[in-house]
Amino acid sequence: MAVICAIVANGPGSGRADLEEEKGEPVARRPWVDKEQCISCGICIANCPQVFRFDSHGKSECYDPAGAAQEVIQAQAVELCPVSCIGWEEQ
Ligand code: SF4
Repeated sequence: MAVICAIVANGPGSGRADLEEEKGEPVARRPWVDKEQCISCGICIANCPQVFRFDSHGKSECYDPAGAAQEVIQAQAVELCPVSCIGWEEQ
């Protein structure tokens, strides 16, 4: 399953974010957490607290996809998740 998540995180439509995107602008995609794979390490929440938080089950969830620039989310959450369970979904 981790392989599938890695494909989601690094597949078409993901990768480096549009450098022109700024916080607060509408986003065409949003971070997505595979909660089945999340090990609740808190890295994404520590690095992007304006975007991620723990849900009632102790798993990460995206509560504000516009809380940080997509390039920041990519570098500080998607690429640092130890189980590669954060990807992008089109809105
Ligand atoms: S970095 Fe990955 S494993 Fe850690 S809390 Fe965030 S989504 Fe879960």
